[in-house]
Amino acid sequence: MAYSFTSTEELELLRNSVSDFAREFIQPKARELDEKEIFSYELTEKMGELGLFGTVVSEEYGGQGLDYLSYIVCVEELARVDSSQAATIAAHNSLGAAPIYYYGTKEQKEKFLPDLCTGKGLWAFGLTEPEAGSDASASKTTARYNEKDETWTLNGSKIWITNSATSITKGITIQAVSGRKHDGKPELTCFLVPADTKGLTCKTMKDKLMWRASNTGEVYLDNVTIPDNYRLGKRGQGFSIMMETLDNGRLSIGAMGLGLAKGALDLSLRYAQERITFGKPLCKHQAIAFKLSDMATRVEASENLLYKACWQKQNNLDFRMLASMAKLYCSETAEFCSREGQQIFGGYGLMKEYPIERHFRDAALLRIGEGTSEIQRIVISRLLGC
Ligand SMILES: Cc1cc2nc3c(=O)[nH]c(=O)nc-3n(C[C@H](O)[C@H](O)[C@H](O)COP(=O)(O)OP(=O)(O)OC[C@H]3O[C@@H](n4cnc5c(N)ncnc54)[C@H](O)[C@@H]3O)c2cc1C
Repeated sequence: MAYSFTSTEELELLRNSVSDFAREFIQPKARELDEKEIFSYELTEKMGELGLFGTVVSEEYGGQGLDYLSYIVCVEELARVDSSQAATIAAHNSLGAAPIYYYGTKEQKEKFLPDLCTGKGLWAFGLTEPEAGSDASASKTTARYNEKDETWTLNGSKIWITNSATSITKGITIQAVSGRKHDGKPELTCFLVPADTKGLTCKTMKDKLMWRASNTGEVYLDNVTIPDNYRLGKRGQGFSIMMETLDNGRLSIGAMGLGLAKGALDLSLRYAQERITFGKPLCKHQAIAFKLSDMATRVEASENLLYKACWQKQNNLDFRMLASMAKLYCSETAEFCSREGQQIFGGYGLMKEYPIERHFRDAALLRIGEGTSEIQRIVISRLLGC
């Protein structure tokens, strides 16, 4: 298990195929989808045909059975071009399909996963509530057990739920309070709620600053009744399922940060080589060359941190602290590179015509979603022993 800094031919082939796809199909549409705030069913289906759904799910359930680093590289190459499409894939795979794959019963996996590995079906992750964001254990959504017919009735609401309000959403994993523990604290349990369940309503949230072509929804549960065999994991295991899911999810948000930073660097370097001021290309002015050096250095450091976290995960080592560090650092690198990139573009960097403007806005979400930067610092400091 020695460290290796060399990639494999297989991984680079995968990287190139996703990169080619992103440039051929996503890039020409990204600006319009962002401007009009349109979720693209066409691109989602195409990403499914490329095998970007169910990437780490085993072939037995219809997935690609790839390792975690391969999946992370796919997300990275999408985000290099467009964060919205990367968000659809990252949220679906890490937060939607993964909990069913890792914690579901054989029946649940057979019933739900095959559809979720095609690009024709999405599954969402319903943790956040209007009054329970960073403090995710403060859920108010309730689940009442009906002994007579072995069902659960859920009531409450969720907010900011990615992929929840599309016409191809197949369901949502919901964390709800299912009772009280001996110490009086809420007992939290997860439930698989199919999208067509009576009483479930999902509404698209509009006017976002970033990820404008990704679907974000509000979810309402009004006496939603589901059978006990749609409970995910054991009663009372809900919070640990959600937190472990977020450990994995942080790797894909890290990949979104790394990809966005690389995209900003690609664009800025090319522009700095072409744009002439004071008789020479921008990149020949030391102030601009140093910006590019700093961007490239942070990109390199982010990549090493993220890939090491994936390596730890793949080798069944504790990767929680590295996942938080990678999420935190890659997000900050994305912000740094998109801001410095915008500066290199001068006035043009403030215009929608130039993709650096979209990268700058999209970077903002990375320090908020799946645990804010403040929460990552809390997680890291706790694991350090503070
Ligand atoms: C586009 C988008 C997509 C999302 N997708 C999903 C999804 O698919 N599923 C899902 O469940 N959620 C999703 N979220 C929700 C996201 O995870 C939350 O927004 C995030 O966890 C922060 O919660 P909050 O917005 O309620 O902020 P709050 O928890 O209210 O925090 C506000 C501020 O206070 C800080 N803060 C809070 N507590 C502390 C503390 N103890 N110490 C220091 N600082 C603190 C935070 O860091 C933040 O800066 C999404 C959000 C967005 C914007």
